Amino acid sequence: MKITALKLHPVAIADPPLRSSYGLHAHYAIRTIVEIETDEGIKGCSETYGGDGPMGLLKEAEQRLIGMDVFQLTRLHMDFEARAAAEASGDRSQTWHVPGENPMDRHTRTFAAIEIACLDAIGKALDKPACDLLGGRARDAVPFSAYLFYKHAGGGGLGDDERDDEYGEGLTPEAMVRQAKQMIAKYGFKEIKLKGGVLDPEVEIETIRALRREFGPNVPLRIDPNCAWSVDTSVMVGESLVEELSRGGYLEDPCASIEGMGEVRKRLLAKGIDTPQASNVAVTAFKHIPEAWKHDAVQIVLSDPHYWGGLKAQQHLDHFCRVFGMGLSMHSNNHLGVSMMAMTHAAACCPYIEFACDTHYPWQTEQDEVVAGGRIPFHQGSVVIPDKPGLGVELDYDQLARLKERYEKLPYRKRDDEAEMRKRVDPNWKRVLPRW
Ligand SMILES: [Mg+2]
Repeated sequence: MKITALKLHPVAIADPPLRSSYGLHAHYAIRTIVEIETDEGIKGCSETYGGDGPMGLLKEAEQRLIGMDVFQLTRLHMDFEARAAAEASGDRSQTWHVPGENPMDRHTRTFAAIEIACLDAIGKALDKPACDLLGGRARDAVPFSAYLFYKHAGGGGLGDDERDDEYGEGLTPEAMVRQAKQMIAKYGFKEIKLKGGVLDPEVEIETIRALRREFGPNVPLRIDPNCAWSVDTSVMVGESLVEELSRGGYLEDPCASIEGMGEVRKRLLAKGIDTPQASNVAVTAFKHIPEAWKHDAVQIVLSDPHYWGGLKAQQHLDHFCRVFGMGLSMHSNNHLGVSMMAMTHAAACCPYIEFACDTHYPWQTEQDEVVAGGRIPFHQGSVVIPDKPGLGVELDYDQLARLKERYEKLPYRKRDDEAEMRKRVDPNWKRVLPRW
């Protein structure tokens, strides 16, 4: 089954003013829906990062893809790996780059988008779900977590496309408890993740404590300040939240670098505190894992099929983490239903994922869904593997056209949370690490 065409659909999706240590989310997040056509009339799709960078890389790959058999992914992977190796130098961490804008993982990201579209096409040709092409699923439903964000008032979008502010402003511990209750009531999530690194650490500690008081010890909690804290502050937070981050919780990328996280770990262990640390910033590639292991910096690796290299790489990572005695969870970005299903299939075929995966999906709306038939449903906080081939979704071409029109009107072609923060919140704002 040979590829005859590669189609790229850039889309803009409304996004509320969510905060992180990177800055502020813009009125619209940008994504790319990737589609391959084959000589058998079967199509495959995937979803990846948006804007000129990711689109340019996919366009560049187009000539190599035309005529390629969708079953021959190993050679394609070797080709992308060789390109990555020829250019590899410097730090591949995500400390200074938002996902999708890290030049060091661009070949891996591009391959992942193509691999997932090919697996979707193969699944459709064989009438098998994507996860069953990789040896079968470890679970029939994949649990996701309630992903809380400190946020300003507003629901995203602009002008006559402005959205309702479903969750309202969230800049205090009380407001964040409200946000969590609302999201859990709607989706049934059983674990909570708080994006931190936004307010004074004391306020973020109090937020986690308030969540614990509200939901009790059976709802695991995690906090992720994206490297906003120094080693000292990370240790202080770890000490302050010993109880709250226990029982299935974790401390995610508290400070920058594998060495920094190793130091936090050492100092917490010396105080008898064994809270695991997770990372999707310091650890973003296979080669980081032995180094993280050596420093005992990371106990849980945060996978993401979009930048670890697709579904098969995700499964390799699962085994790799097991070998190193590390746990596995999943990171996310703003995304639509195609990514939602890629993440679900990826997690389904990883036996060692023992945490609910992250998802930004509750922050996007029905109006922006590109999957025919509408939003992917959650059942008690989980997405069930559908009994449909490939990723289990078809594209809605009217929606793609509408979202592309909106994309074309945007003045930006890359994600820049720092610029957005200066424009809308504080003209002097700069990303400083560590901030606290
Ligand atoms: Mg993270």
